[in-house]
Amino acid sequence: MPPTPVIPSPPAPTAAIAIKTNFVPADLDASRFENVEGYLDALLERPISSVMDLEAWLLDRGELEAACSEAKANLYISMTCDTGNAKVQEAYAKYIHEVEPRLTPACFRLDTRFVELVSKFPLPGTGYAVLDRAVRTDVALFRDENVPLETELASLGQDYDRTIGAMTVEFDGEERTLPHMARYQEGTDRAVRERAWRTVAERRVHEIDTINGIFDRMVGLRHRIARNAGFENYVGFAFKAKHRFDYGVAECETFHDAVEKAVVPLARGLEAQRAAKLGVSPLRPWDLSVDVKGRQPLRPFEGGVDLMRKSIATMHRLDPRLAEMLAQLGDGSQSGGSSNGSCLDLDSRKGKAPGGYQYMRDRTRRPFIFMNSAGLHHDVETMVHEAGHAFHSILCRDQPLLAYRHSPIEFAEVASMSMELLTMNHWGRNEQNRNDGRPVFYENPDDFARAKRDQVKRSVLLLPWIATIDAFQHWIYTHPTHTRSEREAAWLKLDARFGSSVSWLGLERFKPNIWQRQPHLFGHPFYYIEYGIAQLGALQLWLISVEKGEREAVERYVAALQLGGSKPLPELFAAAGLEFNFGADMVHRIVARVQAELERLPD
Ligand SMILES: [Zn+2]
Repeated sequence: MPPTPVIPSPPAPTAAIAIKTNFVPADLDASRFENVEGYLDALLERPISSVMDLEAWLLDRGELEAACSEAKANLYISMTCDTGNAKVQEAYAKYIHEVEPRLTPACFRLDTRFVELVSKFPLPGTGYAVLDRAVRTDVALFRDENVPLETELASLGQDYDRTIGAMTVEFDGEERTLPHMARYQEGTDRAVRERAWRTVAERRVHEIDTINGIFDRMVGLRHRIARNAGFENYVGFAFKAKHRFDYGVAECETFHDAVEKAVVPLARGLEAQRAAKLGVSPLRPWDLSVDVKGRQPLRPFEGGVDLMRKSIATMHRLDPRLAEMLAQLGDGSQSGGSSNGSCLDLDSRKGKAPGGYQYMRDRTRRPFIFMNSAGLHHDVETMVHEAGHAFHSILCRDQPLLAYRHSPIEFAEVASMSMELLTMNHWGRNEQNRNDGRPVFYENPDDFARAKRDQVKRSVLLLPWIATIDAFQHWIYTHPTHTRSEREAAWLKLDARFGSSVSWLGLERFKPNIWQRQPHLFGHPFYYIEYGIAQLGALQLWLISVEKGEREAVERYVAALQLGGSKPLPELFAAAGLEFNFGADMVHRIVARVQAELERLPD
């Protein structure tokens, strides 16, 4: 899941100059605007008469914005870890209503000043090129009248999280969270799976109208924001705002077509095999997660501490540097959000927002990992994924420019998705680790083989879902005045194009609003194609590890992550030895290679 975007366009210094300044006191409480206002004014008014002055100005600005973004990060983390707690909810709401609407225009004034200063004192070399391009884009998009609209959007995002976080069901005599309910989908008793599936679907149906209400307002607000900035609709605005300099709408559509041609037939073929192996016809929505040989569900760990212990051991086998970085975050026992300097909150419990994320606290330069683990294999995947984001944050944290301590999402997800594939060989016992005395997720060789095969399969089967969510957003924002029933029809059409072949007979009322489960549509519009671009990158890196060895793949991985966001997207891919390419040729090539690998992996 996504690293949450922080304040727009946060500039700061370059490799040539010292990393830390003393412009902002270490204990500044940047969650209150009155505490940062003086520093913002000082930056706006500071006389600049040389390139050196300008570089120092960037460094100080980075320090201030890091303090602001960390204050927001901690409020966001507390809010998502305890959606039922009125105090932390109000604290976050207060920030987005009172601080951000004043901070955003102030940052815009600093951006504008940066553009002016740079024309007077051109910055040396190419080290500032990425920053310069980003700031100019943000300046061109900024409109005062959009500030309150962004505030409203952030507040609606909070409503969505709260609505989802509050959802629990009564099942087998206990109140259970929806992430806990996912366990039942892996059970071997088909009747129990069906009962669990229906219980969750019924619970979600109760919120359809509420969530539709939130989404309708979000679409309207986003359309207005785009129009205010001079765009025909939100698509063009979002592509610019997300700094997509290396691809456009046409490339996304080519990707959708390629996935339809190369991956959908493979996915449907695998579903037909699944139905035959399970001996069921037709396949139903509750038949997708159970093991085809009727084996018990994979249970790789029990609780956050065990998850952390085994994840660190897994990383150690891949590369001790990775284990050391992960171990810095804690032992997995923490459940109090970011309080007491904590970096982890792993276990699912009532009141946690859905999903998982990694959030870098920019001032203290320490990552935070949030997830809803419930002992499933899926949680292992999420853990190593978010760990990959944390490695990225840590490996580039000495980049002097704040803007370069975050990389474009298309590459940030390569850092995380690669870990899902590269750690795979270390989830169980093999020749090298047989006697290393460290724990593994799978002691049983059969479970180990099964987990690996599932992982490789999922890495390509994710592509149709990515195409669906991306294509859906293109439809949504090019049809900004659509009705709810038109939206349902658009979703069903995409589902027919990319979705699975399972039978929804008798379940028709549950199907048209499945998209409501995808949090990105609410909090992070247009953030999804990045997973497709990155998955193709991660699969390329995995194939390097298969062909040239793990060491080679990890060295490239570490070297590219250290660059943070200091280079344009295609150069970051190149630094890892990967092609920045999500066109039809790449999709076909990768899918064929993965299919060949799959045939070599036992069921
Ligand atoms: Zn991610």
